[in-house]
Amino acid sequence: MVTKQQNWIARDQAVNWHPYTQMKTTRAIPIIRGEGAYLYDADGKQYIDAVSSWWVTLHGHAHPYIAESVSKQLYELEQVIFAGFTHRPAIELSERLLSLLPRLQSKAFYSDNGSTAVEVALKMALQYAYNSGRPKSKILAFRNGYHGDTFGAMSVSARGKWTAPFQDLLFETIFIDVPNRENIEELKNIVDQHKGELACFLYEPLVQGAGGMLMHEAMYLSALMAHCRASNVLLIQDEVFVGFGRTGTLFAANQLQEEPDIMCFSKGLTGGTMPLGLTTCTLDIYDAFYHDEKSRALFHGHSFTANPLACTAALASLDLLLLDSTQRSIQKIAHMHQQFVAKLNGHPQVRHARSCGTILALEWEIGQETSYFSNLQHSLYIFFLERGILLRPLGNTLYLVPPYCLSTEDLEHIYDAIMEALSVFPSIE
Ligand SMILES: *Cc1c(COP(=O)(O)O)cnc(C)c1O
Repeated sequence: MVTKQQNWIARDQAVNWHPYTQMKTTRAIPIIRGEGAYLYDADGKQYIDAVSSWWVTLHGHAHPYIAESVSKQLYELEQVIFAGFTHRPAIELSERLLSLLPRLQSKAFYSDNGSTAVEVALKMALQYAYNSGRPKSKILAFRNGYHGDTFGAMSVSARGKWTAPFQDLLFETIFIDVPNRENIEELKNIVDQHKGELACFLYEPLVQGAGGMLMHEAMYLSALMAHCRASNVLLIQDEVFVGFGRTGTLFAANQLQEEPDIMCFSKGLTGGTMPLGLTTCTLDIYDAFYHDEKSRALFHGHSFTANPLACTAALASLDLLLLDSTQRSIQKIAHMHQQFVAKLNGHPQVRHARSCGTILALEWEIGQETSYFSNLQHSLYIFFLERGILLRPLGNTLYLVPPYCLSTEDLEHIYDAIMEALSVFPSIE
């Protein structure tokens, strides 16, 4: 007998091509329903979504408040061209977000995902220099960074097996290590060497997500930002992943001493319910495009720029995010993570457990360099799925990015499963 689940799997396999997936060796699990922190497959099996469905879900799946808001908007206005037209959800969302962002952020430019938010930011920085009559074409970025999969975003991200086929078409980027007490002066020197040609410095603040949940200290990042600012190098802060509470504060920006010129958001922006990208900037940037001469404008746009449904989902998600109860949940998760990290760091199988707000990561001690293609990755993925937990390791780095509605009991259950995995997979697979 073919179960409903097997039937969906076969039909999917026949027609769909999945992201970041070797189709020959992977079968996608059909999910028919989501509720809170849980996903349910076609056979009724429950999974705790401990990675917020690729880091997007903030308040849980199918949240009724967001669903009702979007549903109402769907009957009012589902889409309108955003060139020459505007609408209430986009106006209200920009007003509310800008009031929460660092003081200098003054204008909002919408797109529809994180990669496009980054592309827009790069174009803003490069054209800012061009419009000002001092063209600069180099970009500074962190090693191990990730900013998306479109060509510009790939060019400024870490290179690896996944970018190798396109290597010749990626533009040159100057890569530096994340700052720490030892290297900060050396990094400032690199900025000085290139400052005449550097249009901008693009960085993931505090946590480098796809690079392996690598964390660095706010103090040294602030120092590097200050040095770039003094050298007229624009600061592009990619908060696509860390924004909206992930690091324990509303934005990573809240933990930094310096303000960026441009900021990028997506993922949690709509609470993870709809695709939406956002690039914000200072008045100084905006003014370099504001002119009687039409060719000074930012010639970039997407069909679904500022889609009213997506903006409505973002407004509803913001309502939920700012509730005291949500803020308390974020602090609770952050606190539990800290205690678990302390416990993990005494474990012989664990290399460098760490947390930043609601993000937790640990590396398996496997006696060799971390590799995205490590076999342990797949074994751990299956181990947790069998226990009803969705975790998707990056190489031998296991991480948690839970939705804020995750219960204390479920978080403890996940910690227990991690301790069990540490005893089951003691060495190299
Ligand atoms: C995921 C991510 C992106 C790209 O976002 P997409 O919506 O997947 O295109 C950009 N920057 C960071 C920091 C990310 O984590």
